[in-house]
Amino acid sequence: MKTQQYFRPTKAMIDLQAIHQNVKNLKEFLQPNVQIIAVVKANAYGHGDVAVAQAALEAGATILAVATPDEALHIRAHFEEPDILILGASPISFAPYAAQQRIILTAFAVDWIQQAAPLLANETLPLRLHIKVDSGMGRIGIRSERELLEIYQTIQSTDHVELDGLFTHFATADDEDTTHFNQQVQFFENCLSVMPFKPRLVHASNTAASLVKDPHLQYDAVRYGISMYGLSPSPYVESILPFPLQPAFSLESELVHVKQIKSGDSVGYGATYVAPTDMWIGTIPIGYADGVIRKLGGQEVLVDGQRIPIVGRICMDQCMVALPKAYAIGEKVTLIGQQGQNMISINEWATKLETINYEVPCIITARVPRIYF
Ligand SMILES: *Cc1c(COP(=O)(O)O)cnc(C)c1O
Repeated sequence: MKTQQYFRPTKAMIDLQAIHQNVKNLKEFLQPNVQIIAVVKANAYGHGDVAVAQAALEAGATILAVATPDEALHIRAHFEEPDILILGASPISFAPYAAQQRIILTAFAVDWIQQAAPLLANETLPLRLHIKVDSGMGRIGIRSERELLEIYQTIQSTDHVELDGLFTHFATADDEDTTHFNQQVQFFENCLSVMPFKPRLVHASNTAASLVKDPHLQYDAVRYGISMYGLSPSPYVESILPFPLQPAFSLESELVHVKQIKSGDSVGYGATYVAPTDMWIGTIPIGYADGVIRKLGGQEVLVDGQRIPIVGRICMDQCMVALPKAYAIGEKVTLIGQQGQNMISINEWATKLETINYEVPCIITARVPRIYF
């Protein structure tokens, strides 16, 4: 990986050892011979796709999954060997590139295969496909046994395409209530039973299903996303984790300006924060263009091991915090992560933002360099 010099002290620190350990723990936990598909879509949930893929492969993952053709090509440019699976719909025009680059695509429409076939005529390698079963997620996939057999027969009768896998995705695997989950399992099992033969790779389980559901549902492989990054898919899964997870993402900056303001002075756009007493204000070079969106106003950060609040509106590139005393320029500020006894977790941000932890590292924008250790 190229090392680049960054002058702004704002950075996301990515703990690759934590990712390595999370994958290793999973590998020990899975049934024998179940493969790990490391899900590195969306720049590895904002952690950095190439570095995370490297750590996951070293820890025992054998396949990489992404959401889009461009993500797949980016991964392939760095890793020649491993299988890469695109989980989403790919445009027909991508079919020959996928064949050449040994990128596995998701199949869910007969038309798509028929239209891709002529584009594959000159390819020496077959295009490998995994049929997607929509067992109750309502996103992409075939929705009946009849559709499954149609697409199966289309693949079998089309040159240059090859059936390599069959998979589905659960909508409620992180939930304690198993009603919908069990219906999805039943539908997927029915689909498997009508297949004339079992493809090489049957897979269904995301993090939640692979950690807390029937080991039988691990099939040939599990698709491991959020917990590779040390986060739990839901509070329910967190309460029954089979092994501890180590978070890999922290967000850091420094104080670039410290000043005393007088009682009644205001801070930030709109002058919405008015100092109740004389107080110390620190400025941090991070703002909503970095993903610290305005809804995080009032969120605490760590300085000198203590929690202190962001005051005033968050600006595009900067925000201000209320300090208990004067600190030197360059004092470290932790927005996500640990300082001494105190910790600000991604889950804390997710609660403040009324969203799920998955979304938090994804919204930290590309302007924030990812630094690996
Ligand atoms: C994103 C994704 C996953 C990973 O899910 P996690 O909950 O992060 O483990 C698995 N499968 C599919 C189809 C996905 O889109």
